[in-house]
Amino acid sequence: MPFLDLRAETASVRADLDAALACTLDEARFVGGSAVAEFERAWAAFCGTTHAVGVASGTAALELALRAAGVTSGDEVIVPANTCIPTVAAVETAGATPVLVDANPVAWTLDPDGLADAVTPRARAVVPVHLYGRPAEREGILSLARERELTVVEDAAQAHGARGVGSFGAAAAFSFYPTKNLGALGDAGAIVSDDDEVAERARRLRNYGEDARYHSVEEGTNSRLDTLQAAVLLAKLPHLVRWNERRRELAARYDRLLADLPLDRPEWDDAAVWHLYVVRVRDRDAFRRALEARGVETAVHYPRAVHEHPAYRHLARPGGFPVAEALAREVVSLPLHPSLTDAEQDAVVEAIAAWAR
Ligand SMILES: *Cc1c(COP(=O)(O)O)cnc(C)c1O
Repeated sequence: MPFLDLRAETASVRADLDAALACTLDEARFVGGSAVAEFERAWAAFCGTTHAVGVASGTAALELALRAAGVTSGDEVIVPANTCIPTVAAVETAGATPVLVDANPVAWTLDPDGLADAVTPRARAVVPVHLYGRPAEREGILSLARERELTVVEDAAQAHGARGVGSFGAAAAFSFYPTKNLGALGDAGAIVSDDDEVAERARRLRNYGEDARYHSVEEGTNSRLDTLQAAVLLAKLPHLVRWNERRRELAARYDRLLADLPLDRPEWDDAAVWHLYVVRVRDRDAFRRALEARGVETAVHYPRAVHEHPAYRHLARPGGFPVAEALAREVVSLPLHPSLTDAEQDAVVEAIAAWAR
């Protein structure tokens, strides 16, 4: 059983995709075009925000959201130590310096207690990552951000439709990488915000800093949302609520079926959209081999904390980040996607039960 089945997901909406692609070909406006504006309206409505700005990827969304919210060179931006590299790369391409904070041992998201210690006079922003589709701890992060005047920009790349996501702070960044809860047929991303100025600035930054054609008012880039991808996303969006509902159902089922087995499961969270269902096991390699022997593919998100990558060793600190480091050694993602059947999930659970015996 594959970890993910994009072929099944694509087949389930194939007619909608064909129609959307045909419309784009007929319109023949391959940059911009009606699909981009239409998707932006639909995505803002889905997120409950005033604005959505389509961009080229999730990484670009985070970089431009940070810049649009005022982050500039020399600033420090606080990010969790247990995230994927794009979070950190976006901070750096925005010209800022990432500062790592350990994960909370229960929620596995950025630990608000660690946040207080990481704030220096240069700290400008904090990026809560809604890892695995679970919103980061809102109250702790927001109260500290208010107290220390930090801008909050969410990394919502794994949390399309999770409750409260998009309303933490200045802006939130989404990725529509093909494997995400809402995935394009290639790279795509979006920034959402309730702040008119942040949204307008993000719009400029994605298009050479132009406020009018051939008139750049600040240094920008080309990071526009591709028209074909916008059409695809618009066609898939009506299915997202149902897909997320199925993810929630499968996560609840895992919770129930795995209850008596010797693994650490994530705490249930009603607000989560379960981009990934991640468990913790001591001997991860043996666990994964045992499941593989029964035909069950698993994955690891992520095998290294940020500072454990050769390129990011300079972000380590004395004492390390013990929770993030332990998670990197022990987390395993089980198959969970909207086309997974109950019978397939039962086979995963049976493989885990056999490993436990
Ligand atoms: C996928 C992802 C990104 C990057 O998105 P891309 O569209 O691949 O650039 C950033 N942060 C997190 C947490 C992600 O899962």
